[in-house]
Amino acid sequence: MTTRVRFAPSPTGYLHIGSARTALFNYLYAKNTGGKFLLRIEDTDLARSTDESTRSILDGLKWLELEHDEEIVFQSNNAPKHREIALKLLTEGKAYRDFTPKVEATGDVKAAIQEKARQNLNLRENPFRDLSTEESTKRAETEPFAIRLKVAEHGKSVFEDAVYGLQEREYSETEDLVLLRSDGHPLYNLAVVCDDIEMNITHVIRGQDHITNAHKQVLIYEALGKTPPIFAHLPLILAPNKGKLSKRKHGEVVSMTTYRDAGFLAPAFKNFLALLGWSPKTEQEIFSMQELTALFKLEDIHRSNAVFNFDANDERRWTDDKAIWMNAEYIRTMPIEDLLPFVKPELKAAKLWRDEYEDDDKTWLENTIDLIRQRFFTLKDFSNQGRAFFSEDFDFDKSAIEKNLGKEPNLKIWLPELAEVLETVEDFTHDNLQEVVKTFCESKGTKLGVLLNGARVLLTGQGVGPSMLAVMETLGKDKCVLRLKSQVVWNL
Ligand code: GLU
Repeated sequence: MTTRVRFAPSPTGYLHIGSARTALFNYLYAKNTGGKFLLRIEDTDLARSTDESTRSILDGLKWLELEHDEEIVFQSNNAPKHREIALKLLTEGKAYRDFTPKVEATGDVKAAIQEKARQNLNLRENPFRDLSTEESTKRAETEPFAIRLKVAEHGKSVFEDAVYGLQEREYSETEDLVLLRSDGHPLYNLAVVCDDIEMNITHVIRGQDHITNAHKQVLIYEALGKTPPIFAHLPLILAPNKGKLSKRKHGEVVSMTTYRDAGFLAPAFKNFLALLGWSPKTEQEIFSMQELTALFKLEDIHRSNAVFNFDANDERRWTDDKAIWMNAEYIRTMPIEDLLPFVKPELKAAKLWRDEYEDDDKTWLENTIDLIRQRFFTLKDFSNQGRAFFSEDFDFDKSAIEKNLGKEPNLKIWLPELAEVLETVEDFTHDNLQEVVKTFCESKGTKLGVLLNGARVLLTGQGVGPSMLAVMETLGKDKCVLRLKSQVVWNL
């Protein structure tokens, strides 16, 4: 049987880190088993669902390259079918009409919740539960009604969760759940079950906050005479204080587009997400998508919740250290030809891209990226710290000026002098430069480090970076001479 899984977000906000992880696990499981990864937008909560949110979720999935198979299913389009199925259960006596008047919305949310709980608790005593078919049909002609599932009084719902093991719940703990509201609106559990059946879903992989729903859904499957899919509930991703991680409380740090816009690489971020609640039996931490796909097993999903570590009050720890570390690791070690497609849009957006990078200067670009990437954390670093490699219009880091130039007043004279010497170098290569610069330092009685670190500020605007001789070779003679002679930095 072909595996068919689905990612079923409710479009009530952007793609949240927890949902992205759910999408990834579904995707990996589908690919691992040669199955299909489907997408269903659960837009039945009309008051909270927005097109903008759907777009943002799709953007997030696109960025992560979690491409779905088949057409997107919009749950709201299936409402007529959900209603039909609720009516079928009614006809079969597996559901009943509940004529209890709707709790009037008084604005008192607490009172409304209490009243709803009271109605639910006493459901087995609901006077409408055992109303005769004739009477129920007759009242339906004039009175509004909800349709509730008739949950048996004795027994329990049971399912084997692929992550959490055997799950049992006494029927008495579950209310006669509403399938259809009195305004004809199908409710969540009915909609999910109907759609999962319709879409031939074999495995439902989602957050463990849905376990209670799974029990209710099992009851609907039973009433419909269908076998439930395999459930695999995922541990939650918690905030640093072990509380719930939420968009409302934690804001943009949980949104996928934040990472896209901050210069994260999708493969690195997927690698990070994959390890939130799952790990294969190995010490390895860096996995390509192919490796993740090959290794992904439901058995290796953890039962304990994962923690997403960050500190909203510390700029350097605005997101999880591990996510940042992993991104840097990818930038540092990815084959250049794989990294290039990520760097190009970044340089383009910063107006630093030149067409020659596609042909004549391709080798120069590749060498430059390889040289400067060693200390970078995000793609943004290519256009910020790395700007001087692509443009004459770059800023000088204030602390670099103080630290690298402030130490030795003679640098103001020596660096333009060095420029004159460099002008005479025929073959502007690392090895030739080494000789020239060494001799220059000796003649001035200064250390190589002092001179080169001073030159670094004038040449790159930065206080630290890759080997200076390699930087000089990469920039080339003209730029080095021009920048070392420039007085701009001395006038700042
Ligand atoms: N729409 C639900 C949510 O966003 C998911 C339901 C499911 O996966 O069954 O939490």
